[in-house]
Amino acid sequence: MQQTGQLVAERAAGVEGDMGPLGHPRLHLFDEVRPLFASTGLPPEPDNYELLYLHVSGADPTLSREVERALAAGELGPIQVQALRKAHLGDIAAAELQLLVEAAQGSAQALAGRLRAGADDLRAYDDAISRGDAELAAQRSAQELAELVQRLRRANALMMASNRRLEADISSASLETAKLLDRLEAAERSARADPLTGLLNRRGLDDALQRALKTALADGEPLTVAMVDIDHFKRVNDQWGHAIGDEVLRCVATHLSTHARRLAGEAGFAARHGGEEFLVALPGLGLREACAAIDNARAVLARQVLRRADDGASLGRVSFSAGVALLRAGDTVEAIIDRADSALYAAKRAGRDRVLPERRV
Ligand code: GH3
Ligand code: MG
Ligand code: MG
Repeated sequence: MQQTGQLVAERAAGVEGDMGPLGHPRLHLFDEVRPLFASTGLPPEPDNYELLYLHVSGADPTLSREVERALAAGELGPIQVQALRKAHLGDIAAAELQLLVEAAQGSAQALAGRLRAGADDLRAYDDAISRGDAELAAQRSAQELAELVQRLRRANALMMASNRRLEADISSASLETAKLLDRLEAAERSARADPLTGLLNRRGLDDALQRALKTALADGEPLTVAMVDIDHFKRVNDQWGHAIGDEVLRCVATHLSTHARRLAGEAGFAARHGGEEFLVALPGLGLREACAAIDNARAVLARQVLRRADDGASLGRVSFSAGVALLRAGDTVEAIIDRADSALYAAKRAGRDRVLPERRV
């Protein structure tokens, strides 16, 4: 488990533009964000900056309207920022993905147009050569032959110039495509990542669990899923503030993710299901084994004393409750999550700080 304050969340990757002589073309957005920090009193931290930046960029008009409303009411504090981030940031990543796909389609169309023009030039060249052949066969005078040679030279020079243009266009298009692919990959990753913890978000979780489920069913291997919910997390926020609450979420995220990998290797993963709730997938582990492993993660976490980095104040112990379900034949992602969820709520009702397996049928 890492010390509070040392963990960093993955940032969503932005789309880069060309540098102009006055710096990046969107540098002015930085000047628009700055006074908002002054007027709201928000700390100049990455989460706040990202949200205010998206607001001034106008990329998400609904988000901007909600920010304007909160600004007008003097209510844009850390809690509102987190709520707005939660409601809007996943969509931004999806919107960015869409923009990149459109850009890729645009450059593919431009290249196809250029290739068609290249084919036209080639046809014209072919016509010129065929005409030359016919004229040669007609055994013209020396003067006519000299003119024919001149015409063929011109056609050849035109074709070579056309080839060079085409070659340059194709190499710049493939460079552009490689850049677009990099950006697409980064946007795709950020559309699946939870910005606070860096774990898979809900969308990423659904896909990853779907794949794990298919693999386990195909290989006849067990797969267990744990739903994990931090106990009395509201109290952490109430007593220590939302920013410390976020740090606790990052710590628990890292803790679960490390355990998942240690227990199930590369195929094991932890994801943020939402709020202070996480999902841990443990391919290869049976129900009893998985319950013991998650319970061990719970006990290790509960033994830690979290301290505030600045003054060393103790936040006390953090515990969680968890419910574990085992994959059945014919299961869907929703069904196995539902069973783990029911077991989680049984663990809460039984007094929290414990791990329970699903009820057998
Ligand atoms: P229980 O033991 O029954 O789970 O109690 P709880 O307090 O953990 O659960 P409850 O559902 O009452 O409260 C969850 C809290 O988690 C409320 C919400 O403000 C907080 N929360 C959700 N997402 C975030 C987040 O991203 N950051 C922070 N700091 N708090 C969050
Ligand atoms: Mg909770
Ligand atoms: Mg909860």
